Amino acid sequence: MNNIQIYYHSDCLLKNNGFNHPERKERLDSILTSIKEINNIEIKFNEAPLVNLELVYPVHPKNYIDNIFSKIPKIGLNSLENEPYADTFLCPNSKNAILRACGAGLLAADKICNNSIKKHFCAVRPPGHHAETTRANGFCFINNVAVTARYLQNKYQINRIAIIDFDVHHGNGTQEIFYNDKSILYGSIHQFPLFPGTGSEEETGVGNIFNAPIKKNTNSRDFHNIFEKKILLNIDKFKPEIILISAGFDAHYRDPLAQINLESDDFYLITKKILEIANLHSKGSIISFLEGGYDLIALSESIKLHLKALCE
Ligand SMILES: [Zn+2]
Repeated sequence: MNNIQIYYHSDCLLKNNGFNHPERKERLDSILTSIKEINNIEIKFNEAPLVNLELVYPVHPKNYIDNIFSKIPKIGLNSLENEPYADTFLCPNSKNAILRACGAGLLAADKICNNSIKKHFCAVRPPGHHAETTRANGFCFINNVAVTARYLQNKYQINRIAIIDFDVHHGNGTQEIFYNDKSILYGSIHQFPLFPGTGSEEETGVGNIFNAPIKKNTNSRDFHNIFEKKILLNIDKFKPEIILISAGFDAHYRDPLAQINLESDDFYLITKKILEIANLHSKGSIISFLEGGYDLIALSESIKLHLKALCE
């Protein structure tokens, strides 16, 4: 049985989005509690480091990052978007949370490439997959998975990287960042229409983007069929050297932000299918990043099954 490396830092608990916001610190609290309850896999906790911003600039330009940090308030919250759609907030403790959420993936990348450790899960917040090159949105500021992909390419000359996104929302940021990049395959299954509004099948990039939009009330069986045909088959053909996962657990039937009817066990199956491809092409190397998932029970059950599947 494999072991799994978890990346986490208490700074990620300090990111506050205000009263009644779904992206709240209790998400990470319940994930950590549930990870500590797992007793049949070997789990190693790592402190998520502050990312070196020089490693972020290949994805997000310096002036974009400087602008975010300049808007961090001394008290209260500051929004980067215009009312009434503002839901992406900066609080006084945002900076280190953002830097550590991104630094987690780079440490995982180093451990894959230098130490041949295969399985990694970044238990971090804020999430990243909605962050575009120069636009924070959807609770995301820096695109954690995208920065890790670029780092793997630039530092370790990894040629082909697949990013699989099973968060119920389309990863508009990841798609936008890699839209013209054949070296990165991005595959996303997501409820459609739904926030952020992108993710139709017609958005194909340079043949490297595979979107699988699904209707609300999609059940488990249909989800797995579509995921297999529209995403996994294409990842298999691409033969990625490393697989990165944008792991959101908001396609769970309990989730308050979407209407897809997956159960906790479905995240085990989804992960097993991804692992099969990683074992074929990527020596089993996977870095999974926490994205969404807003029901605490669904989140803690599903995370356990996601990690269990990664370790088998
Ligand atoms: Zn989501």
